[in-house]
Amino acid sequence: ASPLVAAVARLLAHADRTRRLGVRANAETAPDVARAVRFGAEGVGLCRTEHMFLGERRTYVERVLLGSDAERAEALRGLTRLQRESFAGVLDAAGGRPVTIRLLDAPLHEFLPDLTELSVCSALARERGRPDRALEERTAAVRRHHEQNPMTGLRGVRLSIVRPELVVAQAVAAFEAAADLRERGRPFDLELMVPMVSSAEEIAEVARSVGEAADQVAARRGRVPYRLGAMVETPRAAVTAARIVTHADFLSFGTNDLTQLTWGLSRDDAERSFLPRYLETGLLRTSPFASIDEDGVGRLLAVAVDGARGARDAVPIGVCGEHAGDPASIGFLARLGVDYLSCSPFRVPIARLEAGRAALLAEGCPAERFDAAEPSAAVGVG
Ligand code: PEP
Ligand code: MG
Repeated sequence: ASPLVAAVARLLAHADRTRRLGVRANAETAPDVARAVRFGAEGVGLCRTEHMFLGERRTYVERVLLGSDAERAEALRGLTRLQRESFAGVLDAAGGRPVTIRLLDAPLHEFLPDLTELSVCSALARERGRPDRALEERTAAVRRHHEQNPMTGLRGVRLSIVRPELVVAQAVAAFEAAADLRERGRPFDLELMVPMVSSAEEIAEVARSVGEAADQVAARRGRVPYRLGAMVETPRAAVTAARIVTHADFLSFGTNDLTQLTWGLSRDDAERSFLPRYLETGLLRTSPFASIDEDGVGRLLAVAVDGARGARDAVPIGVCGEHAGDPASIGFLARLGVDYLSCSPFRVPIARLEAGRAALLAEGCPAERFDAAEPSAAVGVG
């Protein structure tokens, strides 16, 4: 390796010996997980499952939502089959490191056909004197599910409660995947995580559906060990974390949604609408989506950590929003006392380094040392 690569490797090794924060990755496919592990990830802190239902596969979820009983049962079987393979790949690529599979979270409209398109097609057919009954029924069904504000609509845990069969199908897929690995003598460490939780009652309810799935698989293939966690990504979840944690084995902060909901800003639009103006005129120093806003979102995080730890001292707490890979936010997250970060695979080395730096600062190492021109001097290696 070149001297530079060798120096970086030494620096990272030193950061790893020093840091107290764990570093995992957000990854959803086996190749992503393998890459993350090469970058030093100690597990997968967020495996989003929405991507498995993009494009053609969207119709699996659509049929669960809108189909007849027979169509729904068939779609649920398909959904389990698809995910079982995918989850086994992800768990296997993690090689026994923890993998947090998150239940379906995308807003409803991402799974349903476009209402305008359907309405136009129905109207055209009528106009031509050839009304299409099936199309009209489908249009009406989609209209019934249409939401004005999908990001705050039937999403995350709310979908899990209204459609528990989706939770069971996803959890069965995860447990079967783990059982497949066990049969092949491969290690796994499985966590399931519930998004958009706002109350203890919600996580308790989903825990029951997951338990049902666990029993189903246990009857066929023996018990599969797992932990069930709640995402803390609504302000209400943050302030009621003490109660939520009585039904969850771990918590993970989703700082993207928490920022959106705390500020009342759309995470999809704000950065290209008015935030640039705020940044230009100095109303804001950085986008709250880029770095943790310590005065607002940060205070909610602190309330949540205090509440959770007060109720259950050793409950693991992670951070899986984009901020977990932001160098400017990691020091704050370390001081907050969370246990691990989970960020995109490419940010894992940065997170390891920053976590090491945060630990040295916490031990009283003077900040000026980090401003040294020579990075290896900053952490005393080389
Ligand atoms: C979050 O909201 O911070 C999060 C990690 O979940 P997602 O980005 O998938 O909404
Ligand atoms: Mg989220």
